[in-house]
Amino acid sequence: MPAIARVETLIVQIPTRREHKWTGLTEPIGRYVMVKMTDDEGRVGWGEAPALKDWGGEFGRYFGESALIARAVIENYLAPVIAGLELGNAAGLHQRMDAIVKGYPYAKAAVEFAYYDLTGRWLDVPVHTLLGGRVRERVPVTHSIGLVSVEDAEREAAKVASEGIRTIKIKVGVDPARDVEVVSRVRAAVGEDVELCVDANEGYASPGEAIQTYRKIERFGIKYFEQPCMGIERIAAVARAIDAPVMADESAWNAHDVVQIIEQKAAQIVSIYTTKPGGLYKAMEKAAVCRAAGILCNVNGSVELGVGNLANIQLAAAAPPVTLSCVVPVSTPAEALNGQIGGIYYKDDLLAEPMRLVDGAILVPDGPGMGIEVDEAKIEAYRVKD
Ligand SMILES: [Mg+2]
Repeated sequence: MPAIARVETLIVQIPTRREHKWTGLTEPIGRYVMVKMTDDEGRVGWGEAPALKDWGGEFGRYFGESALIARAVIENYLAPVIAGLELGNAAGLHQRMDAIVKGYPYAKAAVEFAYYDLTGRWLDVPVHTLLGGRVRERVPVTHSIGLVSVEDAEREAAKVASEGIRTIKIKVGVDPARDVEVVSRVRAAVGEDVELCVDANEGYASPGEAIQTYRKIERFGIKYFEQPCMGIERIAAVARAIDAPVMADESAWNAHDVVQIIEQKAAQIVSIYTTKPGGLYKAMEKAAVCRAAGILCNVNGSVELGVGNLANIQLAAAAPPVTLSCVVPVSTPAEALNGQIGGIYYKDDLLAEPMRLVDGAILVPDGPGMGIEVDEAKIEAYRVKD
């Protein structure tokens, strides 16, 4: 059986289409670590750590990584212990990684994506087959509107709705008066046929402030209220008071967090990522706990580049409880951009071909491994020299 022969890392920086901000973000998105894994027969798999150092879990329980941190963990701890591991053993990969260093889920996820990509290429099957099979062929996209001016939010919402996007997420959580204004104006701009959800990124100071704000925006039709404030017991207080489902994001990193959310009836929706639990294998475990409790899921992320976003799409294709539209980019190289902005956060991408968006949904690629080839020349072009 082929085995891991080499693990290399590099950092890229891709320019953004416009500034994309949310509560707590202090660095530009798009400066991420790429992992290139080669097996002893010469095949190559790719992974990405969309690590943001200023995004994390509640009360310091989990925290992000920066590109430099993730790279140091991969090079110094993870790569040495997985050298020689045969392909097709994601469980064994995680055992080795978890034994050598606790935490660092972004670094581990990036290594694991490359390993799944490589395993899929060896077996000539897509990664969703390795995760148990494809339960959906298209992944509807939620377009995320960051903390921009009300006028920009209105304009962008109207544009993406005209492009076929059916769900829009509005970042809130800074100033309740501004939040009510932006939701009202976006609803007026897109009409009744587009679903709206709001994400406070833990920004409201208390459950009470979140509940008061929700009561002022509920008349605009809110599909769900994502992470209104910090803490499982505090979002549970919001969940008891409002009609819309609460979604746990920062409060839900792994399967054990979901158990706590179930115990406290804190959320009806959990946002699973490929990265928070430390990779696809553990994201499927988290999805299984959600499914058993009747919790709905979406796949949300950290504004990945194409390599990391392919992992999002493979997870969304394979995880049964992911029935909601997903906050994932529509990864598109510069050559294929034609003025659309729905799901477009960057001016270029590292994939050789664009993801295919039809009627507001990404078609799940079914090529081997992660499904779309990477453009190594682009990776070299955007590489941050060190
Ligand atoms: Mg969120």
